[in-house]
Amino acid sequence: MRESKERFRHAAFHDSLTDLPNRNLFIETLRFHLEKLKSTPEAGFAVLFLDLNRFKTINDSLGHSTGDRLILHVAKRLKNIMGEGDLVARFSGDEFAIILTNIKETEDAVSFAGLIKHKLAAPFNLSGRQVFTSVSIGIAIGNERYEEAEDILRDADIAMYYAKERAKPYDIFDTTMHTRAVNLMQIETDLRHAVERQEFCAFYQPIIALDTMKLSGFEVLIRWNHPTRGLVPPNEFIPISEENGMIVPMTLWILRESCRQMVSWHAIEPSNKTLTVSVNLSGKHFAHNSLVEDIPKIIAETRIPPQCLKLEITESAVMENAEQTIAMLKQMKELGVQLSIDDFGTGYSSLSYLHRFPIDTLKVDRSFVGTMEDGSENGEIVRTVIALAKTLGMDVVAEGIETIHQLHQLQILGCEYGQGYLFSRPVPRDEVEKILENKMRWQNIMPNQQYIIPAPQNDLPHLRLAK
Ligand code: C2E
Ligand code: MG
Ligand code: MG
Repeated sequence: MRESKERFRHAAFHDSLTDLPNRNLFIETLRFHLEKLKSTPEAGFAVLFLDLNRFKTINDSLGHSTGDRLILHVAKRLKNIMGEGDLVARFSGDEFAIILTNIKETEDAVSFAGLIKHKLAAPFNLSGRQVFTSVSIGIAIGNERYEEAEDILRDADIAMYYAKERAKPYDIFDTTMHTRAVNLMQIETDLRHAVERQEFCAFYQPIIALDTMKLSGFEVLIRWNHPTRGLVPPNEFIPISEENGMIVPMTLWILRESCRQMVSWHAIEPSNKTLTVSVNLSGKHFAHNSLVEDIPKIIAETRIPPQCLKLEITESAVMENAEQTIAMLKQMKELGVQLSIDDFGTGYSSLSYLHRFPIDTLKVDRSFVGTMEDGSENGEIVRTVIALAKTLGMDVVAEGIETIHQLHQLQILGCEYGQGYLFSRPVPRDEVEKILENKMRWQNIMPNQQYIIPAPQNDLPHLRLAK
């Protein structure tokens, strides 16, 4: 009776595969150490959170029983290096956690992490096969500010993610990691509600025809009007929305909203009828076939003339999955919309591909425009892109024009369109209406002869963009 009770207790606190302490025992021991630290501040300790790298691959390719054997071997090696008073536990799968005692300074925990890395680097012999593995380790140092055992464990876990993300063997927790992790989680949660709560808004940035200096259209840029954070710029939430799939409803919202808006601006007066609206599409969206069905629906619903809708897709997104993207772009093109490649020059376009895309416009990335002083390499790139576009029958929009100097250089190079702070920052709907009242407002930005540089040759100069 007593024996079976004992066995039951053991099972409740140990992992059945390795017989190491499990999470329950780990947490209990950790509580004890935190408590002890309050009365004996010199009883320093650290928590190490370990995760094997590529364990899933090993499991999937060599089978679960080999995976289990690897875990057993790792457990054994870890046990062998534990000192008195230390504890190593297995949580689940390939996760282990260690309480390291006798820690005087952070360096002690770091050198122990180094020892673990070294011990696990030697190959494992699993039924005649040599298997290599490595670990990512997160370190959190015990201190009296920790109230709960779970908190210090969570911090070690966060540090482990940092280590993994940066392909480092270990990382030490600091509070900025926590703030960032919480922030990110909060944004992710809030983002899920943002569409239904209608927290997104559309900003519009004018695109100017550089020969006549007349307004040609707008690029719509999404903003998130967060209830507590205020206006959140897209680079802070688009990557997250691409991860959690929110990018799809978000894009459909901005497409619908901006098309509807453009149609109402067209109706103000006949000279507005040719204004275009450019909408950014995420490369991730191209994994959803529904995209090519949703666009004609929105065109029909909003009655935007298709030629007034421009869809922008970044160069890197286009190149990532070229074949499928070409097919989808062709379907879109058949609807009569225009297509642009955004941030051109930043991804490694294969120029041999470019002519196969049904593209109307190349948008030169603002990093080139911003630094295109006479004779600089970036100036040369801009010149090259313009020449390339001419050869392929596409037009060019220069992004990020901030100075008159840049504008004049672009005009001389024969760049058709431009957008940038020199003309206007992205503005909300109400301000667009003011712009529409005076579409000629940019005509007083006169060319200045001082900046004239030689015209481009028609043949393609050294194509640095190739490959
Ligand atoms: P993008 O499509 O290349 O948009 C141009 C970005 O350059 C905008 O930043 C714009 O505000 C900024 N910009 C324009 N003129 C200047 C200038 O003269 N100087 C400088 N320094 N910047 C200028 P924003 O609005 O922060 O958007 C950043 C990126 O986020 C966009 O780059 C686009 O890739 C993405 N994005 C924005 N809205 C959407 C959207 O609705 N859907 C998707 N998928 N992506 C979006
Ligand atoms: Mg864009
Ligand atoms: Mg761009």
